[in-house]
Amino acid sequence: MILFFGMVIGYVVVPFMIRPGYLSDLMKSPETEMVNERHLTDDITARLIDNQKLLSTQSLPTARTPNIMTSKTLSDHRRKKILVTGGAGFVGSHLVDKLMMEGHEVTVVDNFFTGQKRNVAHWMHHPNFSLVVHDVIEPLMAEVDQIYHLACPASPPHYQFNAVKTLKTSTMGTLNMLGLAKRVKARILLTSTSEIYGDPQVHPQAEDYWGNVNPIGPRSCYDEGKRVAETMMYSYKEQSGVEIRVARIFNTFGPRMHPNDGRVVSNFIIQALQEKPMTVYGEGDQTRSFQYVSDLVDGLHALMNNDYDGPVNLGNPDEFTMKEFAQYVKKLTNSKSEIRFLDKTTDDPSKRRPDITTAKMRLNWEPKVTVEQGLRKTIDYFQQVLDEAGEIIPTGPGASKPQN
Ligand code: NAD
Ligand code: UDP
Ligand code: UDP
Repeated sequence: MILFFGMVIGYVVVPFMIRPGYLSDLMKSPETEMVNERHLTDDITARLIDNQKLLSTQSLPTARTPNIMTSKTLSDHRRKKILVTGGAGFVGSHLVDKLMMEGHEVTVVDNFFTGQKRNVAHWMHHPNFSLVVHDVIEPLMAEVDQIYHLACPASPPHYQFNAVKTLKTSTMGTLNMLGLAKRVKARILLTSTSEIYGDPQVHPQAEDYWGNVNPIGPRSCYDEGKRVAETMMYSYKEQSGVEIRVARIFNTFGPRMHPNDGRVVSNFIIQALQEKPMTVYGEGDQTRSFQYVSDLVDGLHALMNNDYDGPVNLGNPDEFTMKEFAQYVKKLTNSKSEIRFLDKTTDDPSKRRPDITTAKMRLNWEPKVTVEQGLRKTIDYFQQVLDEAGEIIPTGPGASKPQN
């Protein structure tokens, strides 16, 4: 009898408490579920990316009335346990949105160095979501099927703030995640970077280019750290049979970039929206190619779930000089900002554009969002951030730590 009531409480009452609508989800026919899920998913994805203000109203849970995001319900055999290191950061939090919306169990491991709790706050009361405040340079025990290993500061001022720590994160952190992947037989994806090509002498950069990297400059802690991390991935594959995936990410932008991370997209937008001088480093002839974050997330997901295990460039080949890019952001924001030229920074790569043939052929992936569409969404986002903050002083050249 006690057992019977225990089961009733376990299976009926608890799910109902956990998530309103859980029981009605269970009763839906598969066909209705698919149609509804598609609408729901489209709707919520649109809200996540387009409307941060609305999202923040979803993210104000109280102890008694948690507002819980509604996601797909997957059967036990399809639901994966997925670890996302660095999941509270810019890219990681968008990836978490996609994985959660698909109905997986997601654990974020983050030490909040550059990430923010608010980036994942809307998932906090969801039964499939866990947040672990942990530094990946320490060993971690977990039981998971897949690991997206993103933990690492990505913007130059952030990764130069504590160069030794950046090295430890890429080396000891990646070693720990590979040890974990080996032990639990999980597939692991590393977010490497176009920086492993250094200041490239080949243009555009394809995966078979070995790069031109200064081992002892201000960018080395990041570039060489990621190069060692890649080497570790392939060594664990060869020596221990770990299933690995390596994404080489090119410059990515979008909502939830840290306003003080000092990267060019956030700096130019924040400067232009406040009519402050837009700071171009050097003559502004150096180039970058910019991809919108939703394209990157789709690419990471496609890579993780594909058989190909060579390194894969993920980026949008749309290339700009920084001078042109400043003008472009100025036009899109209708700004009257002056464009101001500052000193060139050390070892700044002079050009960068991905050759994405591998991603197209192997993953059937290519970017869908144009730079203009992405910039408009990001401008709207930073306008909201500015409305909240009042004023933001962007992180300047040579700054080695965030201002806030
Ligand atoms: P981000 O700084 O917003 O996110 C990094 C996250 O990792 C943050 O949440 C941070 O707190 C966390 N982190 C840092 N060190 C950690 C540690 N030791 N232990 C646990 N957590 C730690 O940066 P992002 O732009 O989201 O970049 C994510 C990943 O993608 C990074 O690995 C980066 O190298 C790679 N990448 C990004 C870009 C880009 O343009 N955004 C380009 C190339 C590569
Ligand atoms: N590790 C971890 N979690 C695990 C398994 C391993 O953090 O579940 C760490 C472990 O502490 C070690 C690293 O991963 O520092 C590499 O592990 P591996 O088993 O490959 O090497 P070993 O421990 O034999 O040196
Ligand atoms: N940059 C700039 N003004 C800024 C910030 C960056 O001109 O306020 C330049 C920087 O020198 C580099 C390019 O923009 O040539 C991209 O810089 P970011 O830090 O965004 O990324 P990364 O150099 O890592 O590609």
